[in-house]
Amino acid sequence: MAVRIPYLVARQISDHAASRQPSEACGLLAGTDEQILAAYPLTNIARAPQTRFEFDPNEQLQALKAIDEAQLEWIGAYHSHPHSAPIPSRADIEACADSGLLQLIVSLSRSKPQLKLWRIDRDSVAPIELIYASDNPPESGPALSLSQQAAVIIVAIAAVLILLIISFTLLPPAPQILPAP
Ligand SMILES: [Zn+2]
Repeated sequence: MAVRIPYLVARQISDHAASRQPSEACGLLAGTDEQILAAYPLTNIARAPQTRFEFDPNEQLQALKAIDEAQLEWIGAYHSHPHSAPIPSRADIEACADSGLLQLIVSLSRSKPQLKLWRIDRDSVAPIELIYASDNPPESGPALSLSQQAAVIIVAIAAVLILLIISFTLLPPAPQILPAP
């Protein structure tokens, strides 16, 4: 089974993780069985936030309300590993046991954030393929900006003018009109 994630949500999670370094960032994931549709960043109130995470219970309650109001389902959680691989730690596994929720881990140990999704149950830790939703791939970029449109128009007008000038210079000289005798 694979789970889809929009590029924007993946970016939001990576940005949140980067902004909390060297502490771990954490939050909730909402969506459906097959796709993550939204991330809800929460404050990490763990005593040792550089190696553990614990949701702020009030914020968690607010996020669950917001998920409900958005008519989404609470499907999992995410947290960051500032210095280690995106693999669940023993503490992660113990905290997640029995929940059956998805656990997304974003690692900042390399130059680019690495996201890995896991399903952690009582006695199994299974990696789940994460598919980046192609609806909004970042490389497609926005349409031409106004200045780019203006540049295209100016280049087109210049090309037409140059063609006109060239064709005039190629015209044979006008025939001489002799005065009437
Ligand atoms: Zn962890």
